[in-house]
Amino acid sequence: MEIVKVFGNTYCIDTGMTYIPFYKLNAREIVLLDSGYGIGEREGINALIDDNGYHVYGIINSHAHIDHVGNNMFFKEKDKAIIAMTRLEAALCSSEESVKAYFGGHTLKSVRGHFETMITETDILIDPEDECIEMGGAIFKIIPTPGHSPAHISIITPDDVVYVGDTLISYEVMQGAKMPYAFILSVDFMSKKKLAKLNCEHFIVAHKGIYSNIENLVNDNIAFYKQRAQRVYDVVHKPMTLEEILRAVIREFNINVRSIHKQRVINRMMCSFVDYLIEIEQLKAEIDNGFIKYHQTERASSE
Ligand SMILES: [Zn+2]
Repeated sequence: MEIVKVFGNTYCIDTGMTYIPFYKLNAREIVLLDSGYGIGEREGINALIDDNGYHVYGIINSHAHIDHVGNNMFFKEKDKAIIAMTRLEAALCSSEESVKAYFGGHTLKSVRGHFETMITETDILIDPEDECIEMGGAIFKIIPTPGHSPAHISIITPDDVVYVGDTLISYEVMQGAKMPYAFILSVDFMSKKKLAKLNCEHFIVAHKGIYSNIENLVNDNIAFYKQRAQRVYDVVHKPMTLEEILRAVIREFNINVRSIHKQRVINRMMCSFVDYLIEIEQLKAEIDNGFIKYHQTERASSE
């Protein structure tokens, strides 16, 4: 892990997997934009912060996914960090029960086993109409970029550096990603396009890159997600239940599914693509003997 200077007082912790941006309020106090994984990244992030003599004044989260909020409570306990998140994302990660409700399909025991580091007490709730948030005297602008998660936000530091969270993924990640995740694809596409209109010099992508122009990246991201949707569409060559589609997708994308947890995660990702295909009227759901079966509405678009 290392610290990368972006611009002015805006820096990033490079965890290897992720960029975690931070803004230096002064020589000692920093505001983190997301906090990384609790399991696997905490030790390294904390050591880097300690070695530089930093104190985490606060954390502004882009969204409540486990690799973005995993050290919230750690820094809240250690440094009394103030935590800010959108009202909806804060609710989603506020308790074991809310996480279970959010993810569906997981037992409470499985939530405790896999998502414990997600659970966060949020101090400042950001509402959809809030255009900025003050933390330690610094003003951060908030750009709502929902889609990847229900109330995802992008955050602009006082240096005019945009942290886009998971609204975009880098070219490197596109190369390795079998099935990228978005809670609602069509909404995510609108947020990606919204980012392309911002007139800023520096954009930080969580997984993982720093760009001065994101126009091509936005178009390539949308094309990448649409191409993945097309491959999901293609496997539904006859009326199929969700489980049958999942089996076909696992084969088509060559995904290793060795645990119940992983199967549930992949299923959730795949369902977003199925929802999208229904939304754009390429797939249709119908009830058949008590089972929901999905079928293609047209063949022409895939040829
Ligand atoms: Zn995410």
